[in-house]
Amino acid sequence: MTLRSALEGNHVSFPKVLENKTGGTIVTRFSKQQIITLYQITMEDVIILGTGCAGLTAAIYTGRAQLNPLVLEGTQPGGQLTTTSEVENFPGFPEGIDGYTMMDNLRKQAAKFGARYEHAKVDKIEVDGAVKKLYAGEKVYEAKTVIVATGARPRLTGVPGEQEMFGGKGVTTCATCDGAFYRDMEVVVVGGGDSAAEEALFLTRFASKVTLIHRRDSLRASQIMADRATSHPKIEMAWNSLPQEILADEKGFTRGIRVKDANTGEEREIPCKGAFIAIGHIPNTDFVEGVLERDGDGYIVPSAGSQVKTKYEGFFAAGDCVDHVYRQAITAAGMGCQAAIEAERYLAEL
Ligand code: NAP
Repeated sequence: MTLRSALEGNHVSFPKVLENKTGGTIVTRFSKQQIITLYQITMEDVIILGTGCAGLTAAIYTGRAQLNPLVLEGTQPGGQLTTTSEVENFPGFPEGIDGYTMMDNLRKQAAKFGARYEHAKVDKIEVDGAVKKLYAGEKVYEAKTVIVATGARPRLTGVPGEQEMFGGKGVTTCATCDGAFYRDMEVVVVGGGDSAAEEALFLTRFASKVTLIHRRDSLRASQIMADRATSHPKIEMAWNSLPQEILADEKGFTRGIRVKDANTGEEREIPCKGAFIAIGHIPNTDFVEGVLERDGDGYIVPSAGSQVKTKYEGFFAAGDCVDHVYRQAITAAGMGCQAAIEAERYLAEL
């Protein structure tokens, strides 16, 4: 019997419960109403998981609605935009803004309206009651509403050598973080989307040569990014090239990448000191497995007719953990806003 179930139920006398729970000496000095009040202090109105564009926008809106949101930061505070060099397409910034500054601004803006931040990686949820429970290791959080905005993480190719040299030995997923280490060196970028084009362009600031390795003969990236990448004098395209292995030198550092021609099957080595993998993302939704519906790629599937509602009342999801179509900072922010307004409406009706 927990304290809450006893307080909420009528079948157990109150002093008896307190004896069970605490030994019955100190706590019995409080009235039942006082205990309920104390208990409610630990019950959050809104918990937001994630501090990317979706999470922090939700924090701004729920903060401004005086809901005092608790924001749980996972392993990448600020989300993916903190690893982006220049954000040129977020409305309101005609000169562009670097991703880190933008996320720092959002964070401060939410804090100004009362958002509180804690580091916690939630690994299990229970959401099918009025009280939503979030488990982060030993710690349990309880809330009336939850907004999941846990974003996505970079996908890797899985070829031999990639894991071994990842993070410090030449294989990375973040040009903004690591590009400067490759001054006057040859590097490759794997991928054909906007991320790959953006990474390749950013790397031209440092590297002597950037080879953009793509498995097809045209880029998936938006036309403007594709044009910029393919016309850049420092970027060479390796079309129809399937990565096979990241090659190590005698000290275990990246010395090249072996690729196979998708048409002829012929293999060749492209020398490089750095291999930047930019082939898309995997949504951070493992912890909702078995609770929320996810699609084949792991994205949370919202309820029909809504972008952010789930089948559980008071439980919302927003941003890149849901959206596999648009995946933009502005669309994530928009979803965070929707989720916050839905949470506010749900709380108002409790
Ligand atoms: P993406 O659009 O999904 O592109 C992933 C690329 O990686 C594709 O070209 C894909 O090849 C390739 N790929 C996937 N798996 C591969 C593998 N195992 N081996 C080799 N290549 C592989 O991902 P993204 O570039 O990260 O972009 C995601 C979203 O964010 C998009 O909507 C994009 O527009 C947006 N974004 C926007 C900006 C911006 O506007 N500044 C910047 C970055 C991202 P195929 O083409 O053959 O499928």
